[in-house]
Amino acid sequence: MGLALKDVHFTYYAGTPLAREVLRGVDLEIREGEILSLLGPSGCGKSTLLLVASGLLAPRKGALFLDGMPCGGREDFRARLREAVGILFQSPEDQLFAETVEADVAFGLRRSSLPRREARERTARALRSVGLEPSHYSPLPPFALSRGEMRRVALAGVLVREPRFLLLDEPFSGLDGEGRERLALLLHRLRSSGAGILLVTHEWEEVDLLADRAAVLHEGRLILEGEKESVLGDREGLRRAGLEPPPRVELLHLLRAGYPSLPAYVRNAEEAAERIDAVMRGGAG
Ligand code: ADP
Ligand code: MG
Repeated sequence: MGLALKDVHFTYYAGTPLAREVLRGVDLEIREGEILSLLGPSGCGKSTLLLVASGLLAPRKGALFLDGMPCGGREDFRARLREAVGILFQSPEDQLFAETVEADVAFGLRRSSLPRREARERTARALRSVGLEPSHYSPLPPFALSRGEMRRVALAGVLVREPRFLLLDEPFSGLDGEGRERLALLLHRLRSSGAGILLVTHEWEEVDLLADRAAVLHEGRLILEGEKESVLGDREGLRRAGLEPPPRVELLHLLRAGYPSLPAYVRNAEEAAERIDAVMRGGAG
């Protein structure tokens, strides 16, 4: 079960002198119960890919598939996509607009035909899931909250629809340590409950901590895709895409000239130290 892009092409201002081809044949599948990290330098088309995957932009060529069924063209398929996929835009707190937190979150349900009571319950549940106690936060005006709290309100506005797939555009950027930790825990929990998450992020730390798989976008195509370990350990590939590999990966690369049994990727500095210590002592590495 998954959300798949097959040979997706997208061009801004197609057919005009301003035409800019941003996606040139992207194949990608987000599976239920996993976090897939989408990487690539600024301007490479990550946000555009999310907009296409959410059905907000139509591909110029190629198609989207939900659980193997094509979506697009026909209205009922687009409706299925809207129902299954939730997107959190970059800096979503800038888009909060309602007078209260509750109204902002409930806006996500405007198209649903839920009875009012159930809508209120779902709204409260969504707020609780992002760690905001509804009895306190519901009546507050969003602009009175901290940036981290506003971000969580925006996320609740996506989660309230209970989408199976979540597309998150740099959700960690601008959050402080506590905000990051909370968000990381929430993403863990959502994955455990079966959500498929496409996570755009610039931070290796979040990829190390959260991702199951990773994909790297370069000049409109995915040039790397696979298990996190193999993508993050591919320093040449990352370089080719204009990304600076994690410093640990550089260090291991240099050491591997003398100690070939060292891995290309480790998750953090502690693991690096352990592995290096083991080979230095003549262990198995
Ligand atoms: P990323 O999220 O990886 O930084 P984007 O998807 O935002 O990249 O942008 C990819 C390219 O498309 C950039 O060159 C950007 O300038 C261009 N672009 C993005 N949005 C628009 C738009 N609405 N109209 C025209 N060009 C756009
Ligand atoms: Mg972007």
